[in-house]
Amino acid sequence: MTSYIGRFAPSPTGPLHLGSLVTALASWADARHHRGDWLLRIEDIDPPREVDGATPAIIEALQHHGLNWDGDITYQHAQSHRYDAALATLREAKRLYACQCTRKQLRAQAQATGSSAYPGHCAGLNLVETNRPLRLRVRDELVEYHDLHAGTQQENVAESVGDFIIRRKDNLYAYQLAVVTDDAHQHITHIVRGSDLLDNTARQIALQRALKYRRPTYLHLPLVLTDDGAKLSKQTGAPALENNCALDNLRAAWRYLGQKTLTARTVSEFLSAAVAAWNRAQIPEIDTRMYQI
Ligand code: GLU
Ligand code: ZN
Repeated sequence: MTSYIGRFAPSPTGPLHLGSLVTALASWADARHHRGDWLLRIEDIDPPREVDGATPAIIEALQHHGLNWDGDITYQHAQSHRYDAALATLREAKRLYACQCTRKQLRAQAQATGSSAYPGHCAGLNLVETNRPLRLRVRDELVEYHDLHAGTQQENVAESVGDFIIRRKDNLYAYQLAVVTDDAHQHITHIVRGSDLLDNTARQIALQRALKYRRPTYLHLPLVLTDDGAKLSKQTGAPALENNCALDNLRAAWRYLGQKTLTARTVSEFLSAAVAAWNRAQIPEIDTRMYQI
């Protein structure tokens, strides 16, 4: 087994754009530079948000950009048995409960207390689970971890978020549950992803602790922002990558990552040079103002 297993885990909510290429390239280069494996996982657990054709478009874009993955692609839609098993473990450990609070109630509560942390109304009610969201009973403790780029992070999830939802009312699994379960199952050692997920990480670590999973190492990248400071995304109108400009796209992503200019005439020359030259210390600072709620 290799000592480094990384992954790229796009949600098929649209084609890849420059922001997603930055994440893909950084996680790929970090893995390859450390002689690690790099896995591709399509996070298709949320059918209402899925866009037709996005999955094949993502796969094709990665291929055109020479970002080859190891082994088979994992699809989250095919992993339900694992998520159910994780829920069963948590149920057994009394770390799971159903919630009947309405959004309206929670909004009123948040307004009254000035905190959007779930107040734990249903924690002792022992409600039946059918047609209700399930929450993880979180511990009142500090989660501390060292992010390879963002530095030391601390969060008490009980205070910041409270018991959070891991299976939704519509029976869909929450992102937190799926991502943590799959990262553990695939023995992921290093997670390199965008800083929009930095403030999800403490919740994921809390869930890993509850499930007795190993904690991977994290590296959160600066986000590619639009001119007016919004995250570049499908919602802010990011254009899909042009596959026939792959080398230019890679250069743009590489420059964004603060890495030194490479001489290369082809995608494969570029990528070989990138593996050798990759340097975490060159990644630009994260603009944390963007992620404060
Ligand atoms: N699927 C998530 C996204 O596309 C990323 C999950 C992760 O990297 O942890 O935003
Ligand atoms: Zn509740």
